[in-house]
Amino acid sequence: MPEGDTIFRTARSLGRAFAGKQVTAFRSTYPLLTRYDDDTPLAGQLVDRVEARGKWLLMHFSGGATLITHMLMNGSWHIYRHGERWQQPRINMRIVIENRDYIAVGFRVPVAEMHTAQSLARDRRIPCAEINVLSKEFDAEAAGQRVLAHADEEIADVLLHQNVTAGVGNVFKSEVCFVTGVNPFCRVRDLRQEQVKELIAAARRLVGANVLEDSGDRIVTYGGRQRRTTNESDPGANLWVYGRAGEPCRRCGEPVRRRIQGPDARVTFWCAGCQPLPDGNHVDG
Ligand SMILES: [Zn+2]
Repeated sequence: MPEGDTIFRTARSLGRAFAGKQVTAFRSTYPLLTRYDDDTPLAGQLVDRVEARGKWLLMHFSGGATLITHMLMNGSWHIYRHGERWQQPRINMRIVIENRDYIAVGFRVPVAEMHTAQSLARDRRIPCAEINVLSKEFDAEAAGQRVLAHADEEIADVLLHQNVTAGVGNVFKSEVCFVTGVNPFCRVRDLRQEQVKELIAAARRLVGANVLEDSGDRIVTYGGRQRRTTNESDPGANLWVYGRAGEPCRRCGEPVRRRIQGPDARVTFWCAGCQPLPDGNHVDG
């Protein structure tokens, strides 16, 4: 599952290649999209902008429509020059958008829909911009309130809720808890207000650092690329705890622990030494 930073990079690359430019061709293997295009041709319209909302990618067209896509596990958007060889077979193509300079290909994108501004605003799957940790409109104060509303849940699970802090995926969940010294299994009601603030700030900082210009952006985006690693064969090489079970904690040397957490059974990594539970809590790991 791509994390928020990956979607953000994809949106940025697509925005650079398409925003403000006229669409010259649109194709899709999805009947609903081609029917929309038959009625309201996208060719001739401009792409206004491309944005990431949580794990959704939104492409806004000048005619008022918005194409929303979700990659789930295997989908990806690639950007090519005309005549450039595609990195996936044609049979994986679901959507093609062209302008004079570029071709964007959505490969195996499993969810793709056309929306109006109204249907987009009503769609509860799509987080609004204010709750995306990467968006300019992000409101840290309100994010803290949304975390606190889940008093009985464990903090690492709450960070994953896309309607609480959109953009934080499973890797960042563990990393954010580690850098703030918060135990991922701690219930929200046992956190101090200050800790909630620090968690939100760390989520913004860590996810944000992965979308910087020097963090390895390429115009062909996406597809199992490791984030900010020095050693390509080791997914944990540049991470604090994620993927490092049994290895020494980078701060205290205690072995990093790993455990399945939450209703969705997502893997969590943490250091029991650096991230103690508050008194009265107990967790095996
Ligand atoms: Zn430690």
